[in-house]
Amino acid sequence: MKKKIRFYQSINTKIVFVIVLLLVFALQLIGANFITQIERQLINNFQEDRQVQMDFLETAILPSLELEASGEETDVDPVEEINSLLTEFSGSGITELQVVNEDLVVMGTSDTTQQNIIGQLSDDLDLRQAVFSESTVPRQVIDPVTNNRRWKLVEPVYSTTDEGQFLGAILMESNIESVYNQISQITWIFLQASGVAIILSLILANMVSRALTKPIKEMQIQTRQIAEGDYSGTLKVYGEDELGQLASLINDLSDDVAEAQESIDAERRRLNGVLTHMTDGVVGTDRRGKIIIINDMAQNMLGLKEKAAIGENLLSVLAVEEEVSLRTILEEQEDLLINAHCGGVPTILRASFSLIQRESGFISGIVCVLHDVTEQERIDEERKQFVSNVSHELRTPLTSMRSYIEALADGAWEDPELAPRFLDVTQNETDRMIRMIEDLLHLSRIDSGKSALDLEIVDMSDMFDHVLNRFEMLIQSTEYQGKNYQIKKDLLKDAIFVEVDPDRMIQVLDNIMNNAIKYSPDGGTITGRMTKNENTVVISISDEGMGIPKADLNKIFSRFYRVDRARSRAMGGSGLGLAISKEVVEQHGGQIWAESKEGQGTTFNLSLPYVPFEEEDEWL
Ligand code: ADP
Repeated sequence: MKKKIRFYQSINTKIVFVIVLLLVFALQLIGANFITQIERQLINNFQEDRQVQMDFLETAILPSLELEASGEETDVDPVEEINSLLTEFSGSGITELQVVNEDLVVMGTSDTTQQNIIGQLSDDLDLRQAVFSESTVPRQVIDPVTNNRRWKLVEPVYSTTDEGQFLGAILMESNIESVYNQISQITWIFLQASGVAIILSLILANMVSRALTKPIKEMQIQTRQIAEGDYSGTLKVYGEDELGQLASLINDLSDDVAEAQESIDAERRRLNGVLTHMTDGVVGTDRRGKIIIINDMAQNMLGLKEKAAIGENLLSVLAVEEEVSLRTILEEQEDLLINAHCGGVPTILRASFSLIQRESGFISGIVCVLHDVTEQERIDEERKQFVSNVSHELRTPLTSMRSYIEALADGAWEDPELAPRFLDVTQNETDRMIRMIEDLLHLSRIDSGKSALDLEIVDMSDMFDHVLNRFEMLIQSTEYQGKNYQIKKDLLKDAIFVEVDPDRMIQVLDNIMNNAIKYSPDGGTITGRMTKNENTVVISISDEGMGIPKADLNKIFSRFYRVDRARSRAMGGSGLGLAISKEVVEQHGGQIWAESKEGQGTTFNLSLPYVPFEEEDEWL
């Protein structure tokens, strides 16, 4: 995630700040030292200059003071002499000169307005101190009027002739303010130069730090791009320094990550491909059972879209929340059977669960595989149904036979009227059972593929005609006397050669014809019709009997299915005739179906594929 670096947090600012701070410290240190040194030097120079002037003045004044001390009367007035010397001497920064004799009497002053103090005792404290201590008094004072700093030097004067005799003192006051002004000026110049230096260093430091942080910024951009999944960029390596090495490491890393990502993507695509094309549904969840992945098949099976499924609870999507808890699944992982609607068709799904576990044993998710077991369940159900049907079908004749045999054993065998009837019934039931078992064996052979067809090229028209003729004879027999059956033929004139197993095909036709008579209790016309189109020949047998309810039309071809169980059984039907017919027709690559109107009659159709007879074949 992109996080904005604040101004004060940036390396750039930090580098600039440190460099400028260092410079300011250095300037401070240098400046303080430099200015103190200069100040000391300038003041020293000033004081030395004043000392030289003082020495010079002393030499000039000395004869006058000596004269004054000797008290000799000459035509030279020492006071006048001193005064004129002082007036001439003043200037060049000297603000006041005063000379006193050894009794502190003012001998002269350069201040023309103060001429009246000549001949009087000086009230200057420094002069007094110098006279009394006969020593030099150097002092800096502040002018009370102008507030300027003054350098005051009071020096005792000794006689050169009379050794060591104290003659008086000279006071020299000069303006030292100019020196301080000079220092201020120098300080100001220094400050200005420092300011310029700081500004320049700011610019320079900025440039330096930018040069330093540029590769870092580029690395930052590059790593962000890598994090966002863009591995196309390459960092420029500016040199062999640490940053250069880091840049090439990032480039290597980018390549590695790109490669790893590519292989992860390929793996994911492969996994997705496998999941998408799997015939089983796969649903993956997190450890709390929330769906995170669902393949197309599972979406179809559960009838929901990926968007709707993601994030949903697996158990509620499978609608088994009430039967099983997530904990049970995590602990036992037992398969579940689920009733679902796959594209509107009711389906039975078997859900198998497995856990996704880390090495530590931590369960990070569940994988649920959904397998469509509708067909399997249907077959299983049919098998159960079949076994139950067979048992039932065998039990009924056996029970009735048993009761007849019991009756015979109880004495009915002696009854000349009952005995043959009872024996007849048991014989019929036995025949029916044998027929049924034969039928079952036949079906079983077909189911196991052991019933191979004995194919021959047969003229179907001829064969059908033959069957119909046989039935025509049959209905004229005594058994059907009184019932008005008629057989009508609507056959093709030409021969139709079809490759069939004649015995089996006759068995099918017999069965349909038998049914037509059996289920037409009041007689009626039975029509045998034959049509052909391009590649198929269709045989239809219609009756005018009781017909079949619409709901049962598709079921009559199932094993043991009978519309009217009691009637069928009474007629000696096993409920297997049509099932066998269907199998046989399908074995021939054909189809069988029925059309019926309840109470009006039924038509059975069977279509068989055939290769049309070709002219050229005649010559072969
Ligand atoms: P069954 O031995 O009981 O006749 P089939 O398999 O031959 O067994 O026929 C199955 C059921 O189909 C019969 O029990 C009957 O109810 C119905 N059926 C078959 N043919 C006809 C028909 N022509 N008219 C009415 N119902 C028929």
